Amino acid sequence: MTVAYLGLGANLGDARQTLKDAVVCLAQQHTITVLAKSSLYRTAPIDAGGDDYFNCVVKVDTTLPVRHLLALCHKIEHQFGRERPFRNAPRTLDLDILLFGDQSIDEADLIVPHPRLVERAFVLVPLVEIDPTLVIPQRGRADALLPGVSDQRIEKVKGPCQCPMLNALTPAESTPGKGRCE
Ligand code: ADP
Ligand code: MG
Repeated sequence: MTVAYLGLGANLGDARQTLKDAVVCLAQQHTITVLAKSSLYRTAPIDAGGDDYFNCVVKVDTTLPVRHLLALCHKIEHQFGRERPFRNAPRTLDLDILLFGDQSIDEADLIVPHPRLVERAFVLVPLVEIDPTLVIPQRGRADALLPGVSDQRIEKVKGPCQCPMLNALTPAESTPGKGRCE
């Protein structure tokens, strides 16, 4: 089992609902246990046009090797209608691996810790919310990096997380083969 952190973002369609549904979809995978979910944040697009983004971060425990987790992220993005017409295009769902245990990976199609993690408030703020003492391999404490992104607009979406599907999940539904998101 490996503890990993996943970053979710969306700014096309009903982005808030998509993020909630995507967290439920992750929780329904028998290879993944969702340990924590950050609040939902509204953030300004960076290096891109389009509407504001909604972002959140989840902490998971997974039996998957990292490449299988990346493939799963791509599959779920696809299920939520992700298209890639051009770099940094608006997206229905972006699902990135931020951290995977204490592993450092530097390959053509997979870099972990995520290369832009330390320079994005929309990742650092929710990460620190769910894990205030988090240490990023080779970069130190995540909270110490917050001053460096303080110029980026980010606001917590008010109100409690209304996520009936996630709240309704019982341990039984997390058992292999039950309630899976295909
Ligand atoms: P963005 O960089 O805006 O998230 P995409 O979601 O289109 O853009 O991802 C582009 C590519 O980044 C993917 O095809 C994937 O292989 C690669 N990639 C490299 N490292 C990671 C990571 N840690 N998590 C997710 N994708 C990654
Ligand atoms: Mg991505």
